[in-house]
Amino acid sequence: MSFSDDVRQELARVIPGARCCRIAELSAFYELEGFLLGTHNQFLDFNNSSPLVARKTLLLLKGLYPDLPTQVLVVKSRSRRAQICTVRVLGRAFAGRVYQDFREQSVLDGTDIPRKKCCRRAYLRGAFLSSGSITNPERGYHLEISTELSGLAEKIVAIMTSLGMEAGITQRKGSLVIYLKDGGEIVTMLNVMGAHSALLHFENVRIMKDMRNQVNRLVNCETANVDKTVKAALGQIEAIQAIDAAIGLEELPPKLREVARVRLENPYASLQEIGDLMVPKMSKSGVNYRFRQLQEKARQLDKLNTKY
Ligand SMILES: [Zn+2]
Repeated sequence: MSFSDDVRQELARVIPGARCCRIAELSAFYELEGFLLGTHNQFLDFNNSSPLVARKTLLLLKGLYPDLPTQVLVVKSRSRRAQICTVRVLGRAFAGRVYQDFREQSVLDGTDIPRKKCCRRAYLRGAFLSSGSITNPERGYHLEISTELSGLAEKIVAIMTSLGMEAGITQRKGSLVIYLKDGGEIVTMLNVMGAHSALLHFENVRIMKDMRNQVNRLVNCETANVDKTVKAALGQIEAIQAIDAAIGLEELPPKLREVARVRLENPYASLQEIGDLMVPKMSKSGVNYRFRQLQEKARQLDKLNTKY
């Protein structure tokens, strides 16, 4: 089972306590995949490919309206190559009453968002259950909800913004896709929707990844330092060899000659290590100063050579 399925399973089990939130979550199901149908609005349908969502829809409806006449239809969808589970509220009066409750939540007017924070959270849970998915954090950070209706997309983004998330919107195959790419914001979203065990898993993976990245950065940093040391040592050795070829190392003053000899014997040693090998010991900056003198000497000799 995918991580997305895990999250949906968990969210399907979250039943909000308050009446306002139950209506809000149902209205998300309705707005994303529902219709008021028939010549006189005799039906109100909730359509979803997932039996999980159909079961929750029915549960919420029966909790809110105990004597509501309902029907469950399962239809094979040609376009989606999947089945559609429809929960249908029967009868004009009942359908109208449910629809009216959605309106009173102020959730059906364009980009109006539910007034109460608790209801906005419930709405997002419903929207995600209807048409959302999330990538396994091992593979990357991505959570999305898609809809074909631009007003609805704006509304979902507005609700997310009001709860501290900055969602992006993009188009894919005629649908608008609202997405989160930031690990921290996906954590907020999971928390807002009430997917607490998924959140724990997500956070664990995120911490492990962070640690792995930090270790990699350290390794890269060290490799870069080693590279620098080796390059510097190569330059010093070239200078020493040039001096040796031009005038012979024995012509150098004793202190320079000594540092040159130690370098040739220890081509991979750091400045500190060279300093420790000197008799008497020498500081890193002292060694560095001598190498710069050697390189300067090599440059001068080189100029002389090219002149004559
Ligand atoms: Zn509420």
